[in-house]
Amino acid sequence: MRKKVVAGNWKCNTTLQEGVELAKAVDKIVAEKGASDVVVVMGTPFTHLTKVVESVNTKRVGVSSQNCAAEAKGAFTGEVSAAMVKSTGAEYVILGHSERREYYGETSETLNKKVALTLENGLTPIYCCGEPLEIREAGTQKEYVINQLKETIFSLSADDFKKIIIAYEPIWAIGTGKTATTEQAQEMHKDIRDAIAAQFDAAVADEISILYGGSCNPKNANELFANPDVDGGLIGGASLKAEDFIEIINAY
Ligand code: PEP
Repeated sequence: MRKKVVAGNWKCNTTLQEGVELAKAVDKIVAEKGASDVVVVMGTPFTHLTKVVESVNTKRVGVSSQNCAAEAKGAFTGEVSAAMVKSTGAEYVILGHSERREYYGETSETLNKKVALTLENGLTPIYCCGEPLEIREAGTQKEYVINQLKETIFSLSADDFKKIIIAYEPIWAIGTGKTATTEQAQEMHKDIRDAIAAQFDAAVADEISILYGGSCNPKNANELFANPDVDGGLIGGASLKAEDFIEIINAY
């Protein structure tokens, strides 16, 4: 059975000290009132990974980076490799977030390298896809998103593909307070699952967790997660407050 996953994406927020406090608070509340069948992940800045891993029970709360380098190692000043992320004890890497695609020019080609390195290092990619507003308004969002997958993770072997978590994040809903309706989310998640079944097979499609991301909060999580093809969420702003994050985790 596929897993329910709620992953936080802290983005470029929190100092190390604030991040450790947040992580400890999340870990404590998950221990006290978290749903045991939900996989909880916190996507922290690179600088926080080691300390956060040391500060929480990683069996209860997994730790993720928000990116990794497209090269294994070498003369790439400022980059952090997948092997480095792995060496901190983190287990996940968020890849292909729309902010990275938009502000840092990440292409499908770059993402293919990052996905490969992440998998080689035994890390789980949380692979983001999603359409901008003009594509949604033109009604071509399905083609757009499936194409993002075709250009990247659909070329993996079925065994590798099964290690991936997908996050569908309509760009117009990220950080805008404008959430996709439950129908819009379910429709796209089903389209993605159908495309996986066509590319691989129905059993693979049934195993993949597809998360929704985009202004998900304690008020709307319940309705979004009630959809049969929505297997959890990738949470930005609301993951920065432990109480809000736990409410989303417990929205199932
Ligand atoms: C995100 O950045 O992945 C995200 C979903 O952000 P927010 O929840 O703030 O919209």
